[in-house]
Formats: sequence, C-alpha cells, structure tokens
Amino acid sequence: MTSERDDSFPKLDESFQVDKPRIERAMREILIAIGENPDREGLVETPARVARMYAELFKGLSQDPAKHLQKFFTEKYDSMVIVRDIEFHSMCEHHFLPFIGKAHIGYIPQGRVVGLSKLARVVETVARRPQLQERMTETIADLLKDELNALGVGVVVEATHSCMTLRGVKKPGSYCVTSAMKGTFRSNAKTRAEFLKLALKK
Ligand code: ZN
Repeated sequence: MTSERDDSFPKLDESFQVDKPRIERAMREILIAIGENPDREGLVETPARVARMYAELFKGLSQDPAKHLQKFFTEKYDSMVIVRDIEFHSMCEHHFLPFIGKAHIGYIPQGRVVGLSKLARVVETVARRPQLQERMTETIADLLKDELNALGVGVVVEATHSCMTLRGVKKPGSYCVTSAMKGTFRSNAKTRAEFLKLALKK
C-alpha cells in the first residue's frame, strides 16, 4: 500500500473556528480510554474546558504572524535592535505537552523598524500552534528577515519541555536552547557574538 500521508501544514485561514464540540467528544473518548468515568462530577465539565483551552492554545494556527510586522517605521537607524526575555508558552507537537521559555530577538534594520511589542506579538502567534522549538526559532527569524528586509536577524529560544520533565527521561531543570541566524548574523562572527553577548546577558 502506498502511503497517502499529507505532510503539508494546514493553509492559514483567518476565518477558521476551532471545532469545540469535536474536541469535547474526543476528550470524552480519552477519559473512557484511560479507564475513567467521564460522567463523574469532577470530570463532567472537563471535555468542555479542554475544548476552550485548546481553542486558546492553538489560536495562532488561524493568525498570520507576518501581519504584526507590516506596520513599520522608516528609520535611518542601522544598528542592532535587541529584545530579550520575551516569554512564551507553546505546545510540543510530538506529545501535546507545554514547553515554556523565553525568546531573544535581534535584528539590524535596513530602513524598516517595528515597534518592540510587535516582536512579542510575532512570538505569541507562532507559539500558539502545535510546535517544535527548532521550527519556531527558524520561523521567527525568517519572518523578520523577509518582512522587514533586515540586514541580519538572530533569534535564540530557551525553553523547558514538559515532555522531558514529566515523562520519558524525566530531566527537570534541563533547558533546550535553539538559535537561528540570518544575513549578517550568520556571515559575520563579530555581529553574531555581539548579539549573543547582549541577548544572553543575565
Ligand atoms: Zn515533546
């Protein structure tokens, strides 16, 4: 049999509404499958709660993160801009467990500068999807590079993964660090070092 797996991401549809009744039915099934009684008092509202929670946690699937970068200022500023410690919560797509951490973003503008809060909005939108930390890091860097036509972009993400701390290898306190460097942040070691020094300063 040939595999008919569809590996593509769902097309971004801003009018998409999460199908909460479907999540409720599925959650009820999970409760039965683990040997619980979905009708007991403590669980009776759980499927509806989980449905509302998933709608919130995955709302980034129907939002275009590029939107936040399309309102920029035209400025002659051409030195590095860094925003660090942007907190985020995301969901590991392999286990559907949260990973929580901070993103540090730097870029060198080429005429286009965005409001600092917009960078946090980009992180928030990208995080609110079933994610991999590696992909999230790359996506944020690509968005900045493309939308702002930045000379260079650096993104470092540090996060702790529940799927590593609660189950499997159970390594509480371990951090996963990923980075993506574009343009001059990739080609110029001095630029990259300056960014990393400022971004990771404790
Ligand atoms: Zn995981």
